[in-house]
Amino acid sequence: MHGKEQVIAPILQQELGIQVTVPTAFDTDYFGTFTGEIERAGTQIEAARFKAQRGLERMNESLGLASEGSFGPHPSSGFIASNLEIVLLLDTRHDLEVFGMALSTNTNHSHRVVRNLKEAKDFAVQVGFPQHGLIVSADPKSSNQGLLFKGIVSEVALNEAIQTVLAQSSTAFLQTDMRAMYNPTRMKVIAEATQNLAAKLRSYCPNCGWPGFEIAKRKIGLPCEWCMSPTELVLAEVYECKKCKHQIEKKHPDGKEFADPGRCMYCNP
Ligand SMILES: [Zn+2]
Ligand SMILES: [Zn+2]
Repeated sequence: MHGKEQVIAPILQQELGIQVTVPTAFDTDYFGTFTGEIERAGTQIEAARFKAQRGLERMNESLGLASEGSFGPHPSSGFIASNLEIVLLLDTRHDLEVFGMALSTNTNHSHRVVRNLKEAKDFAVQVGFPQHGLIVSADPKSSNQGLLFKGIVSEVALNEAIQTVLAQSSTAFLQTDMRAMYNPTRMKVIAEATQNLAAKLRSYCPNCGWPGFEIAKRKIGLPCEWCMSPTELVLAEVYECKKCKHQIEKKHPDGKEFADPGRCMYCNP
Protein backbone atom coordinates (compact mmCIF):
# COMPACT_ATOMS: atom_id res chain seq x y z
CA MET A 1 0.00 0.00 0.00
CA HIS A 2 2.94 2.32 0.52
CA GLY A 3 4.83 1.85 -2.73
CA LYS A 4 7.87 0.16 -1.17
CA GLU A 5 8.09 -2.12 -4.21
CA GLN A 6 9.46 0.89 -6.09
CA VAL A 7 12.78 0.48 -4.28
CA ILE A 8 12.66 -3.20 -3.29
CA ALA A 9 11.69 -4.78 -6.63
CA PRO A 10 14.50 -3.39 -8.85
CA ILE A 11 17.20 -4.47 -6.35
CA LEU A 12 15.87 -8.03 -5.98
CA GLN A 13 15.37 -8.31 -9.74
CA GLN A 14 18.93 -7.25 -10.44
CA GLU A 15 20.69 -9.03 -7.56
CA LEU A 16 18.72 -12.28 -7.37
CA GLY A 17 16.47 -12.45 -10.44
CA ILE A 18 13.37 -12.36 -8.23
CA GLN A 19 10.30 -10.82 -9.84
CA VAL A 20 8.24 -8.97 -7.24
CA THR A 21 4.48 -8.72 -7.58
CA VAL A 22 2.24 -6.92 -5.12
CA PRO A 23 -0.98 -8.67 -4.06
CA THR A 24 -4.06 -6.62 -4.93
CA ALA A 25 -6.56 -5.41 -2.33
CA PHE A 26 -4.19 -6.31 0.50
CA ASP A 27 -4.72 -3.92 3.40
CA THR A 28 -1.35 -3.83 5.19
CA ASP A 29 -2.60 -1.09 7.55
CA TYR A 30 -4.46 -3.97 9.19
CA PHE A 31 -1.06 -5.02 10.62
CA GLY A 32 -0.44 -1.67 12.33
CA THR A 33 -0.08 2.01 11.51
CA PHE A 34 2.51 4.57 12.58
CA THR A 35 -0.20 6.98 13.67
CA GLY A 36 -1.41 4.45 16.22
CA GLU A 37 -4.97 3.86 14.95
CA ILE A 38 -3.95 0.20 14.86
CA GLU A 39 -1.19 -1.10 17.13
CA ARG A 40 1.45 -3.38 15.65
CA ALA A 41 1.47 -6.84 17.18
CA GLY A 42 4.77 -8.39 18.30
CA THR A 43 8.32 -7.44 17.36
CA GLN A 44 9.35 -5.84 14.11
CA ILE A 45 10.59 -9.16 12.69
CA GLU A 46 7.43 -10.98 13.79
CA ALA A 47 5.31 -8.29 12.13
CA ALA A 48 7.26 -8.61 8.86
CA ARG A 49 7.02 -12.42 8.96
CA PHE A 50 3.29 -12.27 9.61
CA LYS A 51 2.75 -9.92 6.66
CA ALA A 52 4.84 -12.13 4.35
CA GLN A 53 2.81 -15.18 5.40
CA ARG A 54 -0.54 -13.42 4.89
CA GLY A 55 0.63 -12.21 1.48
CA LEU A 56 1.65 -15.76 0.49
CA GLU A 57 -1.79 -17.10 1.43
CA ARG A 58 -3.28 -14.88 -1.25
CA MET A 59 -0.91 -15.88 -4.03
CA ASN A 60 0.11 -19.25 -5.32
CA GLU A 61 3.83 -18.63 -4.78
CA SER A 62 6.60 -19.95 -2.54
CA LEU A 63 8.58 -16.75 -2.00
CA GLY A 64 7.05 -14.17 0.32
CA LEU A 65 8.47 -10.73 0.97
CA ALA A 66 7.55 -8.06 3.49
CA SER A 67 9.09 -4.98 5.00
CA GLU A 68 8.64 -3.29 8.35
CA GLY A 69 10.10 -0.08 9.73
CA SER A 70 10.39 1.52 13.14
CA PHE A 71 11.55 4.85 14.51
CA GLY A 72 13.03 5.76 17.86
CA PRO A 73 16.15 6.78 19.72
CA HIS A 74 19.38 5.31 18.35
CA PRO A 75 20.23 2.09 20.29
CA SER A 76 23.78 3.16 21.20
CA SER A 77 23.47 6.95 21.32
CA GLY A 78 19.97 7.54 22.64
CA PHE A 79 19.73 11.22 21.79
CA ILE A 80 19.71 10.83 18.02
CA ALA A 81 16.58 9.77 16.13
CA SER A 82 16.99 6.63 14.07
CA ASN A 83 15.14 4.46 11.59
CA LEU A 84 15.42 0.67 11.57
CA GLU A 85 14.20 -1.08 8.42
CA ILE A 86 13.75 -4.80 7.93
CA VAL A 87 13.07 -6.56 4.63
CA LEU A 88 12.23 -10.21 5.16
CA LEU A 89 12.12 -13.04 2.65
CA LEU A 90 10.29 -16.32 3.31
CA ASP A 91 10.93 -19.33 1.11
CA THR A 92 8.26 -21.89 2.01
CA ARG A 93 9.55 -24.50 -0.42
CA HIS A 94 12.97 -24.62 1.23
CA ASP A 95 11.85 -23.58 4.71
CA LEU A 96 14.18 -20.59 4.67
CA GLU A 97 13.80 -17.19 6.26
CA VAL A 98 16.32 -14.41 5.81
CA PHE A 99 15.98 -10.75 6.64
CA GLY A 100 18.01 -7.72 5.64
CA MET A 101 18.43 -4.82 8.03
CA ALA A 102 19.45 -1.20 7.87
CA LEU A 103 19.79 1.20 10.79
CA SER A 104 20.08 4.86 9.85
CA THR A 105 20.25 8.13 11.72
CA ASN A 106 19.18 9.84 8.51
CA THR A 107 15.50 10.33 9.32
CA ASN A 108 13.14 13.29 9.62
CA HIS A 109 10.96 11.50 12.20
CA SER A 110 9.61 14.32 14.35
CA HIS A 111 6.52 16.06 15.72
CA ARG A 112 5.49 19.42 17.15
CA VAL A 113 2.53 21.15 18.75
CA VAL A 114 1.79 24.44 16.93
CA ARG A 115 -0.44 27.41 17.70
CA ASN A 116 -0.58 29.03 14.28
CA LEU A 117 0.16 28.60 10.59
CA LYS A 118 3.57 30.26 10.85
CA GLU A 119 4.79 27.70 13.40
CA ALA A 120 3.38 24.91 11.25
CA LYS A 121 5.27 26.18 8.20
CA ASP A 122 8.53 26.53 10.14
CA PHE A 123 8.26 22.90 11.23
CA ALA A 124 7.33 21.82 7.70
CA VAL A 125 10.48 23.40 6.23
CA GLN A 126 12.65 21.70 8.87
CA VAL A 127 11.38 18.21 8.03
CA GLY A 128 11.71 18.51 4.26
CA PHE A 129 8.13 19.31 3.29
CA PRO A 130 6.64 19.04 0.65
CA GLN A 131 8.97 16.26 -0.63
CA HIS A 132 8.21 14.61 2.71
CA GLY A 133 4.56 14.31 3.78
CA LEU A 134 2.97 15.59 6.98
CA ILE A 135 0.14 14.54 9.28
CA VAL A 136 -2.02 17.09 11.05
CA SER A 137 -4.33 16.23 13.92
CA ALA A 138 -5.75 17.65 17.11
CA ASP A 139 -3.24 17.92 19.95
CA PRO A 140 -3.22 14.43 21.60
CA LYS A 141 -3.45 16.16 24.99
CA SER A 142 -6.61 18.06 24.06
CA SER A 143 -10.13 16.70 24.47
CA ASN A 144 -10.82 17.48 20.83
CA GLN A 145 -9.92 14.17 19.16
CA GLY A 146 -11.04 12.75 15.84
CA LEU A 147 -9.53 15.16 13.32
CA LEU A 148 -6.75 13.50 11.33
CA PHE A 149 -5.26 14.62 8.00
CA LYS A 150 -2.66 12.22 6.58
CA GLY A 151 -0.41 12.38 3.52
CA ILE A 152 -0.26 16.17 3.27
CA VAL A 153 2.14 17.15 0.48
CA SER A 154 0.94 20.57 -0.62
CA GLU A 155 0.90 24.03 0.90
CA VAL A 156 -2.85 24.28 0.22
CA ALA A 157 -3.64 21.03 2.02
CA LEU A 158 -1.41 22.01 4.95
CA ASN A 159 -3.14 25.40 5.33
CA GLU A 160 -6.53 23.78 5.20
CA ALA A 161 -5.72 21.08 7.75
CA ILE A 162 -4.11 23.50 10.20
CA GLN A 163 -7.00 25.96 9.93
CA THR A 164 -9.60 23.22 10.41
CA VAL A 165 -7.90 21.96 13.57
CA LEU A 166 -7.19 25.45 14.94
CA ALA A 167 -10.83 26.41 14.42
CA GLN A 168 -11.70 23.80 17.04
CA SER A 169 -8.83 24.09 19.50
CA SER A 170 -5.97 26.42 20.38
CA THR A 171 -3.23 24.04 19.20
CA ALA A 172 -2.64 21.54 16.41
CA PHE A 173 -0.37 18.49 16.37
CA LEU A 174 2.00 18.11 13.44
CA GLN A 175 4.03 15.01 12.70
CA THR A 176 6.07 13.67 9.82
CA ASP A 177 4.22 11.09 7.73
CA MET A 178 6.54 8.06 7.91
CA ARG A 179 4.69 5.96 5.35
CA ALA A 180 7.24 5.11 2.68
CA MET A 181 5.55 6.81 -0.27
CA TYR A 182 5.49 10.09 1.66
CA ASN A 183 9.05 9.79 2.86
CA PRO A 184 11.91 9.55 0.32
CA THR A 185 14.48 9.50 3.15
CA ARG A 186 12.88 6.35 4.54
CA MET A 187 12.73 4.84 1.04
CA LYS A 188 16.54 5.05 0.89
CA VAL A 189 16.87 3.12 4.16
CA ILE A 190 14.45 0.46 2.83
CA ALA A 191 16.69 0.19 -0.24
CA GLU A 192 19.72 -0.33 2.04
CA ALA A 193 17.90 -3.08 3.96
CA THR A 194 17.04 -4.74 0.63
CA GLN A 195 20.71 -4.64 -0.41
CA ASN A 196 21.58 -6.24 2.91
CA LEU A 197 18.98 -8.98 2.28
CA ALA A 198 20.44 -9.66 -1.18
CA ALA A 199 23.97 -9.83 0.27
CA LYS A 200 22.88 -12.31 2.96
CA LEU A 201 21.08 -14.50 0.42
CA ARG A 202 24.21 -14.56 -1.72
CA SER A 203 26.29 -15.70 1.24
CA TYR A 204 26.42 -19.51 0.92
CA CYS A 205 27.24 -22.18 3.46
CA PRO A 206 30.75 -23.50 2.69
CA ASN A 207 29.62 -26.97 3.81
CA CYS A 208 26.30 -27.48 2.02
CA GLY A 209 25.82 -24.42 -0.20
CA TRP A 210 22.61 -23.23 1.48
CA PRO A 211 21.96 -19.49 1.05
CA GLY A 212 21.65 -17.10 3.98
CA PHE A 213 24.91 -18.07 5.70
CA GLU A 214 25.07 -15.20 8.19
CA ILE A 215 26.16 -14.07 11.63
CA ALA A 216 24.24 -15.98 14.28
CA LYS A 217 26.08 -14.57 17.30
CA ARG A 218 28.91 -12.32 18.36
CA LYS A 219 31.50 -13.22 20.98
CA ILE A 220 32.79 -10.36 23.08
CA GLY A 221 36.20 -10.28 24.77
CA LEU A 222 38.64 -8.51 22.43
CA PRO A 223 41.81 -8.28 24.61
CA CYS A 224 43.08 -4.91 25.84
CA GLU A 225 46.24 -3.77 24.08
CA TRP A 226 48.00 -3.00 27.38
CA CYS A 227 46.92 -5.62 29.93
CA MET A 228 45.38 -8.29 27.66
CA SER A 229 42.22 -8.49 29.77
CA PRO A 230 39.06 -9.24 27.77
CA THR A 231 36.93 -6.15 27.00
CA GLU A 232 33.29 -5.74 26.00
CA LEU A 233 34.32 -5.33 22.36
CA VAL A 234 33.62 -8.04 19.77
CA LEU A 235 36.30 -10.70 19.49
CA ALA A 236 34.64 -12.89 16.88
CA GLU A 237 31.53 -13.27 14.75
CA VAL A 238 30.04 -16.73 14.44
CA TYR A 239 28.37 -17.57 11.13
CA GLU A 240 25.90 -20.43 11.10
CA CYS A 241 24.13 -22.32 8.33
CA LYS A 242 20.35 -22.41 8.70
CA LYS A 243 20.26 -25.85 7.07
CA CYS A 244 23.18 -27.98 8.30
CA LYS A 245 24.15 -25.83 11.33
CA HIS A 246 27.76 -25.65 10.13
CA GLN A 247 29.60 -22.84 11.94
CA ILE A 248 32.54 -20.65 11.11
CA GLU A 249 34.13 -18.26 13.54
CA LYS A 250 35.63 -15.10 12.06
CA LYS A 251 37.93 -13.40 14.52
CA HIS A 252 38.58 -9.65 14.69
CA PRO A 253 35.67 -8.49 12.51
CA ASP A 254 36.75 -4.86 12.81
CA GLY A 255 40.27 -5.74 11.62
CA LYS A 256 41.79 -5.10 15.06
CA GLU A 257 43.50 -7.73 17.20
CA PHE A 258 43.47 -5.62 20.37
CA ALA A 259 41.14 -3.17 22.05
CA ASP A 260 41.97 0.45 22.78
CA PRO A 261 42.97 0.61 26.51
CA GLY A 262 40.38 3.37 26.82
CA ARG A 263 37.73 0.64 26.52
CA CYS A 264 39.36 -1.55 29.19
CA MET A 265 37.75 -1.75 32.63
CA TYR A 266 41.17 -2.21 34.28
CA CYS A 267 43.30 0.31 32.39
CA ASN A 268 40.46 2.87 32.21
CA PRO A 269 38.06 2.05 35.04
ZN1 LIG B 1 25.09 -25.74 5.47
ZN1 LIG C 1 43.72 -3.11 30.00
